[in-house]
Order: sequence, then structure tokens, then C-alpha cells
Amino acid sequence: MEAVSKNFFLTLSKSAVLNKAAKRWGMGFGASKVVGGQTFEKAIPIIKKLNEQGLCVTVDHLGEFVTSKEEAISRTEECITTVQAISREGLNSQVSVKMTSLGLDIDKELVVKHMKQILTEAKKYNIFVTIDMEDESRCQATLDIFKQLKAEFDNVGTVIQSYLFRSDQDLNILNEFNPNLRLVKGAYKESPEVAFMDKSDVDKNLKHLINKHLLNGNYTAVASHDDEMINYTKQVVREHDIPKDQFEFQMLYGMRSQTQLDLVNEGYKMRVYVPYGDDWYGYFMRRLAERPANVAFVLKGMFKR
Ligand SMILES: Cc1cc2nc3c(=O)[nH]c(=O)nc-3n(C[C@H](O)[C@H](O)[C@H](O)COP(=O)(O)OP(=O)(O)OC[C@H]3O[C@@H](n4cnc5c(N)ncnc54)[C@H](O)[C@@H]3O)c2cc1C
Repeated sequence: MEAVSKNFFLTLSKSAVLNKAAKRWGMGFGASKVVGGQTFEKAIPIIKKLNEQGLCVTVDHLGEFVTSKEEAISRTEECITTVQAISREGLNSQVSVKMTSLGLDIDKELVVKHMKQILTEAKKYNIFVTIDMEDESRCQATLDIFKQLKAEFDNVGTVIQSYLFRSDQDLNILNEFNPNLRLVKGAYKESPEVAFMDKSDVDKNLKHLINKHLLNGNYTAVASHDDEMINYTKQVVREHDIPKDQFEFQMLYGMRSQTQLDLVNEGYKMRVYVPYGDDWYGYFMRRLAERPANVAFVLKGMFKR
């Protein structure tokens, strides 16, 4: 049943038609519990509150299915405006960005140009930018862009997904850059040709990647709501005396809020991923796919409207 529900929501997440309809409809169905707002201005009070509670943030301007150069330019400008607003408002926040939102499906060089504009502005304010990882078909292009940017900028990182067979090898290749990486299980619908289908294999591989990246001496963001991954990380850093400034935990806004605060109280760095924007549909569907319990948000949201 869980697998059926997962596939159902992951298939829905890819629908450009429903994505368009959702934009027109406005944020509903409980999406406001996991999305910071339809504009960055709306997300600012939420970020301030998280910061006051000792939580760091990374913000993501939601956007998928970008197919025109004009739209990609407008997304780049939005990202730059967000960087400036983070500095102006004194927020403790980084930025996360998807390469498709900057034009990956149009032209790779266009994305590099856009990313250089964003990173140059972010560097002025000492703001770190993480390149989110999307589906497997875009993984190589995303890593190529990352490597190209990393040669020039020190304020850029990316994401490795443990459900992909290729990830261990990717970690080996990226190691020469001493990258700051977010390690996740992976959120997209992938085929058995490229990804582990069994949760136990995905979990085992995430532990392996966490261990390897930490022991390689690299900054590691463990992005998971899973106690098993959190406890494993705590154990590795304890056993190897890894300092608290070499790693952090990350979780999504609206998920396990009490656990986020507990980790802060234990003295760990905890970063909350706060998405915002009117393109909330695909993100929201992937969250529903992850956890059947999240579907309760939808039902409550429907009756509350
Ligand atoms: C900050 C952040 C950034 C991310 N960036 C990317 C990215 O760039 N690319 C990408 O593909 N994916 C990304 N992801 C998503 C990630 O790949 C997973 O799909 C997602 O985090 C679900 O996996 P999990 O490790 O959290 O736990 P799961 O495997 O979903 O859950 C394992 C267990 O954790 C517990 N649990 C999980 N969620 C909850 C909850 N809400 N409340 C209570 N218990 C819970 C339950 O016990 C559950 O059985 C990101 C995730 C985070 C947190």
C-alpha cells in the first residue's frame, strides 16, 4: 500500500498540467505547513522565528519545468534578490537552488552563467549556495556544473543521493574538491537500472556515504528525518572525534520540528530547508510520496478551506 501511494504521488509530482493548475489555484491542501509562503517576503517572519530558536536555514525558491530562457533569467534574478534580502534582513540563511529552474533543460552553459551571477552576489555577503540534486537523468550535468563552479567559487556545494548506484563513485570523484555536500536518500521516482529499490539498501548506502565523507575530512550535511541516520552520524562523529563544525543536520520545514529543536539543544548545528514560491506543487507531491502520514495534511487542508 505504501509503495502504491509513493508511486501515485511521485507520478503526480511530474505533471506539468497539474503544476500549472496548482499555481492558479494558490497554496492549499495543507501545503502551507511545509512551504514558507508564496513569496520570500511571506517567508521572512518564518525564517526569523526559526533563527530565534537557534535553527539555521536554507531557502529554496520553488521552481520546476522551466522551459524558456526568459523564465530562467527571471528565476536567477529572484535568487539574487533573495540573497540580498537575506543580508538586508540579517537572516541566518543559505540558499538552495535547482539547476532546472535556471535553465538546465535549455542549455548547460546558460545555467553556469546564471550560477556565476548568483554565486558572485552571494559571496559579497558570505552566503553559501547548495545545488539541489534532481532526478538521475540530470545528475551528471548537475555534477559537471558543480565541478566547473567549484574551481572558481568556495561558496558552493551540492547533493549526493544514496538511492543511486553511482553515488559512491561520485563521492570518490568529488573528493579532490573537498566539497561541502548534503547527503540524502533521494526523492525522485527512479528505475531499478540506476537506483536501489529496497529501503534497506538505500539506508545502508546513506550510512556508508556519511561515514566516508566525514572520514575524508569534508563538511557533511546529513539531511534526513530518520532517527537511524541521525544516531548513526552521532556515533561516527563521537568515535572519530569529528568536531561539531565539520557537520550539520538538515531537515525540511514542517517536518519533525521538535526533533529539530532537540538537536539544537544537544549542541548540534541544525539547518531547516524552507521552500517558498508559487511553484509549490511538485515539492509538495514529493513530500506526500515520502510519508503516508503527510497525506493527513491534505485531508485536513481540504476540510479547512
Ligand atoms: C534538507 C533536505 C534537503 C533535501 N534535498 C534533496 C535534494 O536536493 N534532492 C533529493 O533528491 N532529495 C532531497 N531531500 C529529500 C530526501 O532525499 C528524502 O526524500 C527525504 O528526506 C525523506 O527521507 P528521510 O531520510 O528523511 O527519511 P525516510 O526514509 O522518508 O523515513 C525514515 C524514517 O524516518 C522517520 N520520519 C521520516 N519523516 C518523518 C516525519 N515527518 N515525522 C516523523 N518521523 C519521520 C520515520 O520513522 C520513517 O520511517 C532533502 C531532504 C532534506 C531533509
